[in-house]
Amino acid sequence: MWVHFDLKSHKAETHVADYHGYPVLDGWPHSPVTPTALRQLTRAPLNAPLAERIASRDAFDRRALYALPLNGRPTTTLARLQSPALRGRNGCLDLPDLLHLADPAVRTCRGGHPPGTGCLRENLTWSSSKSPRLWQWPLYGTTEWERVYNQRGAVERSYAHLKSAAGPGLRRDEFRLRGLGKLTVVILADVIASNLGKIYNVATADHELHHRQHDWAA
Ligand SMILES: [Zn+2]
Repeated sequence: MWVHFDLKSHKAETHVADYHGYPVLDGWPHSPVTPTALRQLTRAPLNAPLAERIASRDAFDRRALYALPLNGRPTTTLARLQSPALRGRNGCLDLPDLLHLADPAVRTCRGGHPPGTGCLRENLTWSSSKSPRLWQWPLYGTTEWERVYNQRGAVERSYAHLKSAAGPGLRRDEFRLRGLGKLTVVILADVIASNLGKIYNVATADHELHHRQHDWAA
């Protein structure tokens, strides 16, 4: 499972600035040709006007074209990445034979990489330890990231309900059990209680409505 978190301005710093010739932006290595204007992006706040939020997401989506492509599925701590030039993302003058593969939407690299760095490095392993607070996939701020992040919003609301007095009212000091297995059973029971409570509230509201309608009819 992947973690998805918003990057507050103080967190959105580059932890490792450069990884084998690839600039690291918001926790992910990017092509050496990533345009300067896309290197430091700030996500529009949720209460910003819609046009501003769309523009912000577009910028992150454009930058994602320069992110190092994955080689296989990432795990929670490791991602195998490939040279963007070898994958046909950007052209690189160091690899003239591959120029025809390059995506025309992405800038061509002027090359000049020392051996084994930048576009010349075929594969590399990117690990969560390099950027523990920023590590996440899909890439931060992109349309795909936002879709997953919104799902997390729904999960957080459910947690809030489990802890609220209106719900089961879970408290930190309440647990006398240890171990994932036992706690899973407790949480499962709380989720059932929470859902029964919601069903009860809806049913009661329906019942009251029915009665009121009945009274009016009488
Ligand atoms: Zn290059």
